[in-house]
Amino acid sequence: MADCLFCSIAAGETAATRVLESPRTIAFSDISPQAPTHVLVIPKDHYPDLAALAGAEAGLLDEVAMLAHRIAAAAGIDETGYRVVFNTGPQAGQTVQHVHAHVLGGRGITWTHG
Ligand code: AMP
Ligand code: ZN
Repeated sequence: MADCLFCSIAAGETAATRVLESPRTIAFSDISPQAPTHVLVIPKDHYPDLAALAGAEAGLLDEVAMLAHRIAAAAGIDETGYRVVFNTGPQAGQTVQHVHAHVLGGRGITWTHG
């Protein structure tokens, strides 16, 4: 999709620190990390938010979740714990309209959100 930052990253046109990928998803480091591990997982194709991803082709949301777990395992935080977040819509602070799962960990993460 034109003028989408994460489509541009998926296409390799905008630089990002890629971490892992699967056939239909990629993961890259968040440019403004909020925890020692802070990685974003996106589908390579454009879906604006979690609702669209949930209604997408079979297994795509599973693939995003599986890559999130692989990132945690690769970072060594799969047993200490990690959080996966989909900010969805303006009140949740979604700023990029290409669905992305935040994978956060490497420190204690409280339930309170700013
Ligand atoms: P959200 O606020 O949930 O939409 O999350 C968007 C995330 O994208 C934020 O955590 C930003 O720090 C991150 N971000 C924005 N631009 C880039 C970029 N060029 N490369 C990596 N992460 C980015
Ligand atoms: Zn996009």
